[in-house]
Amino acid sequence: MSTTAHAIAAPGPGAPLEQTTIQRRDLRPDDVLIDIAYAGICHSDIHQARGEWGEAIFPMVPGHEIAGTVAAVGSAVTEYQVGDRVGVGCMVDSCGECDYCLADTEQFCVKGNVQTYNGVGFDGENTYGGYSRQVVVKDAFVCRIPEGIGLDVAAPLLCAGITTYSPLRQWGAGPGKKVAVVGLGGLGHVAVKLAAAMGAEVTVLSQSLKKQEDGKRLGAAEYHATADEATFDVLRGRFDLILNTVSAQIPVDAYLGLLRVGGAMVNVGAPGEPLSYNAFSLIAGNKALAGSMIGGIAETQEMLDFCAEHGIGADIETISAADVNDAYERVAASDVRYRFVIDTATIGA
Ligand code: NAP
Ligand code: ZN
Repeated sequence: MSTTAHAIAAPGPGAPLEQTTIQRRDLRPDDVLIDIAYAGICHSDIHQARGEWGEAIFPMVPGHEIAGTVAAVGSAVTEYQVGDRVGVGCMVDSCGECDYCLADTEQFCVKGNVQTYNGVGFDGENTYGGYSRQVVVKDAFVCRIPEGIGLDVAAPLLCAGITTYSPLRQWGAGPGKKVAVVGLGGLGHVAVKLAAAMGAEVTVLSQSLKKQEDGKRLGAAEYHATADEATFDVLRGRFDLILNTVSAQIPVDAYLGLLRVGGAMVNVGAPGEPLSYNAFSLIAGNKALAGSMIGGIAETQEMLDFCAEHGIGADIETISAADVNDAYERVAASDVRYRFVIDTATIGA
C-alpha cells in the first residue's frame, strides 16, 4: 500500500503543468516520509520540464528544493523523528560504495546518483520531485534544517544554496578575495549572500542595473551592467573568482578578461546550448575555467548550518499551485526576486 500524494506535473515537454496525484512508496526500513511544506522553483526544473536538456521522463513532477517536516520513519531510521524539520535536494540515492560516494560526493556516483525527479531509482521506479504534498526519501539523503531558518526561505538552499556554496568554498572565496557573481537570479542572489558572509568582496554582474539596490542589500560592494560594454573595460583583470549562474549562453571570453592572473571562472549555469571560449583567454594569464555540480549531502548539511549561523535564507515570492505556469514564464524572463517557492498546501486543495 503506497501513499497517494497530490502533485503538480508536466505531462510532456513544454506542456503547461497541471495538478495530478502520484503514488509514494511504502516506507522501507531506511525511509523517511516527509510532509512537504515548500518547494522552490529552480531554473533546472524549467530546463527539464521544457525538454531543454534533451530526453526526459514524463509525466514529470519537478522540484528539488524541498523543505518540510518528518511525518513517519522506517523501522531502521535513527537520525530522524516525526516532526523534525528537514530538506531534500537534487539527489535521493546513490550506490554508497564507489570512491565518490565514500568521499561524500554522491553527486558523482559511478552508478549515477538517483535524481530527485526525472530519474530512475535502483528499484527501476521513476522518481517524482517536490511539487507535491509528500515525498518518501532514503534517510541518508535527508538534511536537517536548523531552527532559525524558516522552511520557506530554507527550501531554495537545498539546490541554489549548495550549488553556489560548494564552488565558493572550493575556489577559496573569503577575506581578501574579489568575487564576481554573474546573473542575479535564484542561484546568483544566494551566491551573493554566501560569498559576502564568507568575507569576500562581491560584485554583481547583471544584464542591467534594474536590481542594483537589491544587489547591494544582499551584500554586494559593486554592481555593474553587462549590457554596457564599458563594464568589461572598467573591470578588466579585477577578479580572483567569477561564478557564472546564467541559464543562457554568455560570451565566455569577455568574462575571462575580467579575471586576475591565476583567477578562475566557475560555471554552474547550465544552458542547453554549448558555451565556447578562445584558448588564449585562458593561456594568457594562467586562468582556469571550471564547472561545479551541486554538492554532496554532508556539504549540503554544512551549508545549511552555515546559513543558520549567518542568518541566510533565500529571498522568496511564495506562490500557490495555480501560479506555477506564470512563475515559469517569469523565471524564463529573468523576472524573479529571487526565488519562487510553492506553498504545497495549495496543491490539490
Ligand atoms: P534564474 O533564477 O533564472 O537566474 C538566472 C539569471 O541569469 C537571471 O536571473 C539573469 O540574471 C541571468 N540571465 C538569464 N538569461 C540571461 C541571458 N540571456 N544573458 C545574460 N544573463 C541572463 O536561474 P537559477 O535557478 O538561478 O539557475 C541558473 C542556472 O543554473 C540554470 O541554467 C540552472 O539549470 C543551473 N543550475 C545548475 C546547477 C549545478 O549543479 N551546476 C544547479 C542548479 C541550477 P540578471 O537578470 O541579473 O542578468
Ligand atoms: Zn536546482
